[in-house]
Amino acid sequence: MRHALPVRVLVVEDDDGVAGAVVDALGTQGHDVRRVARAVEVWAHVRDADLVLLDLGLPDADGMDVLRRLRRIATTPVLVLTARDGERDVVRGLRLGADDYLVKPVRLRELLARVDAVVRRTGAAAGGAPAGLVEIEDVCVDLAARRATVAGQEIALTAKEFEILAALARRPGAAVSRQQLLDEVWGDAYLAVSRSLDVHLASLRQKLGRPGLLATIRGFGYRLGR
Ligand code: CA
Repeated sequence: MRHALPVRVLVVEDDDGVAGAVVDALGTQGHDVRRVARAVEVWAHVRDADLVLLDLGLPDADGMDVLRRLRRIATTPVLVLTARDGERDVVRGLRLGADDYLVKPVRLRELLARVDAVVRRTGAAAGGAPAGLVEIEDVCVDLAARRATVAGQEIALTAKEFEILAALARRPGAAVSRQQLLDEVWGDAYLAVSRSLDVHLASLRQKLGRPGLLATIRGFGYRLGR
């Protein structure tokens, strides 16, 4: 039986045996699969993918760093493959923006079911807006080009301001916690920069000039979009 929603999958996995089995299984479901073995190869292909399967144990980079960087440049759903089954890793991966995870050894039927679920949940195959472009009322955020416009006018943002905006824009209308923002924008050293987030956010809010659009959720975090 062919898959109802074929998508383009980028498989990032250095183990040839695992990669071969995963690529074959996805192929039988009608998915268009490309496999790379190293983190450095991800960036050339991520924009052509609807879904990324990311092994966290790569030879040339920490998978968590790859995930964090992916989240800065693309909205592509990410399903993490990990040999680490420590709850801490899994929770951290999800907090960094993985859509789901599978612990190795991967059971192929489960993998296919999880891919289906992520595709359905995220609408990865639905087309819609160009990849990496998020529109919230008259604010448009181009995640790939790292540009933002308000009412068609580009606004000049610092790198940090843009990253905060991008982190919020990837989840339009959803509450994003302070910790999540600090994780994504600054990495793990969040205690040292918690106040800095307030400063950058105040500046971002002023530049957007849309007070109601970037809401503070007391005691939790922020939300872009009503
Ligand atoms: Ca590996």
